[in-house]
This record gives sequence, C-alpha cells and structure tokens, in this order.
Amino acid sequence: MPTPNIEFAGALLDALREASRDEPGVTRDAYGAGEETAHAIVREAAERLGLSITRDPAGNLFMTLPGKNPDRPAWIVGSHLDSVPHGGNFDGAAGVVAGLAAISTAIKAGREPSRPVTVLAIRAEESTWFPASYIGSRAAFGKLDAEALDLPRADTGRTLRQHMLDLKLNPESVRRGEASIRPETVKGYVEIHIEQGPTLELEDIPIGLVTGISGSFRYRTGRCLGAYGHSGAVPRRHRQDAVMALADLAMKLDRFWEENEQPETPLTITFGQVATDPSQHAFSKVPGEVNFCLDVRSTSTSLVEKTHEAMLVFAKDIEERRGVRFEWGPRSGSTPAPMDADLVQRLEDIASTKLALRTLRMPSGAGHDAAVFAANGVPSAMIFVRNQNGSHNPDEAMRLADLETAIALLTELLVAEDDN
Ligand SMILES: [Zn+2]
Repeated sequence: MPTPNIEFAGALLDALREASRDEPGVTRDAYGAGEETAHAIVREAAERLGLSITRDPAGNLFMTLPGKNPDRPAWIVGSHLDSVPHGGNFDGAAGVVAGLAAISTAIKAGREPSRPVTVLAIRAEESTWFPASYIGSRAAFGKLDAEALDLPRADTGRTLRQHMLDLKLNPESVRRGEASIRPETVKGYVEIHIEQGPTLELEDIPIGLVTGISGSFRYRTGRCLGAYGHSGAVPRRHRQDAVMALADLAMKLDRFWEENEQPETPLTITFGQVATDPSQHAFSKVPGEVNFCLDVRSTSTSLVEKTHEAMLVFAKDIEERRGVRFEWGPRSGSTPAPMDADLVQRLEDIASTKLALRTLRMPSGAGHDAAVFAANGVPSAMIFVRNQNGSHNPDEAMRLADLETAIALLTELLVAEDDN
C-alpha cells in the first residue's frame, strides 16, 4: 500500500494559509483576490506534478493525470477553494489538496491509475459571497441559471458577471449553459471535506462516509409586521408585537423539530439573523416589525416539505391570534442528494480491508458540491475528515494524521487494480 504523501499536503495547506491570512483566520473571497490566489498556488503544485491543466469558462480548475487509459471515464476528486470571511484553512481546501496529494502518492509509488483522475478546484461554493448555492459546480454542468450572473456580491455590490470579467473568465458561455463536465465521461466524483460538526470527534473515528447531503428551504428576507406601541400603555390583548409573534413561530418550529426528527432523517431549523429596525425600535416601544432569515435542512425531501407546510399553518394561527402578518420574501433552497450506495460501499470495504479502519456512515447537514454532481447523475461520495471546533470560524482545526488517512483511502480507490 502506498504511503500517503502527507508532507506534500501539509506544505500546500501551509502555503494556502499564508497567502490568504486575514486575522483572525483566512479569507478567500469567491471570484476575488483570495480565491484567485488559492487557485494560483494549487495550479503551481499541479504543474510540478506534471498534470495537464485547464480552466473552464466559470474559472473551475481541472488538473488531470491521464492514467493508463486516457479515454476511459475519469474519476473527479476535489472541492472548493473559497472560504467564508475570516474562516478556517481547511473547509474546501483540504479536499483539493487531498486530491493532489493522492495523485502525488500514486506517482511516487509507481501505481498509475487505470483511468484519468481529475482534481477539480471548484469556484464559489460558499453562499456568503453571492446569494446562491454551488455557483462553480452548477456552471460546470451548464446548469447555473442566467439570473445568477446578475447577483451582487455581498461586500462589493458588484455582480457575479463583473467579478468573472475581472478575472478574464467567460460569463457569456456560462449564461449559454455550456458545460465543461459531461456526466457520461465521469466514472465518479469523490469529495474529501472536513466534517464541520462534532460527531466524528465525539465518536473517536477519524473518517466518515457520507450517505446523503441535506436539501433545504430558505427565506433570506422574511419579515413579521405588527404595530408599534407604548410598552407600558398597550395591554396584551391589544398588542401586535412582531417579536413575540416571531418568537412564537420559532418555539412552535422547535417543538415540531423535536417531534419529527428521526436518526436516519435529521432536521435542522435555524433563524440565523433576527433584527428589529434600528431607525424605529426603542427600549420602551412594542416592536412593530422584525426581520429574519430562516434556514431549514434535511436529507429527506418529504420532511423538508412537511416542515414548510407546518410553518405556514403555525404562521397563520399566529397571525390570527396576534394581529401580525408574515411576509416571507423569495423562497430558495435545494433538494436532498443521496450519495451513490455502491461507491460508498466500495470506500467502506477499502477502509476495512486495506486500511483496517473503522469508518462511520453519516448524513451531511451542510451542503457540498457533491450534491450537484449527484443531481447530474454522477455517482458521488464524500469522505469526511474528523475536525475540531466546527468550521466557518478561525478556530477550525484538523489533524494532519486524519487527512493522511483520508488520502490513503482515496489513493487506494484511484489505483485499484479491479477498477472497471
Ligand atoms: Zn466547504
């Protein structure tokens, strides 16, 4: 069994951290300087490995080892290189680095894969920058809706189209839906990613195998409208308190969550932003308006829809009882994406037989590009690496030894003799 080239991975991760340091943490802004620098660093490493390199119209970077039979359907392994502002170094980058490290490992061991292996650095996975999910991977399949190009980036206010043009990319080709990945030319997609949650750490297992990725419904611009009033003078029965009404909705949804979640179909419900209007709110005023966003996720399509229906029923009841009105704004979201059962089984078999490694099957509550590959008919799998302190924060951590285990597992899959 080849020894994973963890020195290669460690050095590349260090270089990425150095180049995108933005204390606290790192910032790799999608279609901005941070992501662009990360792409340049990864590209240079791929050139040193002798890989052939292309960039598609959306800026996704394809780094390919042709293998013994370059015409056979390829493995694609990779992840994204953007990060949230002041995020951690491993969310996304670990998967791209692990892909290159697996190829480096195979080359060093003289174990040429039987088919092409493409390491893919995907653009703009984090929806903090542009209010859309999976921009880079959807564009790669020619499936990014044209309107997405008009979305403004949260910090610059400039559109995705303008940001693409800044980098000499081709938004017009993206708009026409020209695909750079044809599903029939892909054997499978494998994404290594940090877990971002506490499960593997608590279970003391270094590697998780993802069974499916959650779908969601989201409201980014929800409002609850009531009436402002004097905090002391208006009796309860005459109040139209928007904050109490939203709190009522939140508690009803929390109860629904507790009662409807199952171990095999987890649910999450999050009011990530809740705010009264600073130009109108005051210490002694009944709040007449509250703005909120809502993010609901599950690996079960029916549970996502059931939660949505329940939410509307709860809201209607609250509107009648409390004299308020909910305005939801546009609904967005994604459908749940099951991973490929055969590919997951194969990874589990390799882990147990060749690496004597116990793995844990688990759903992914967070969204990943693998969902887009699965939705486009590519057999897909994700290898989760145990990590500490979650992600999307500067304290995000990961032991290199755990990444090394994931690289070993990936390498074994790529160089398998019986890879038909
Ligand atoms: Zn990620």
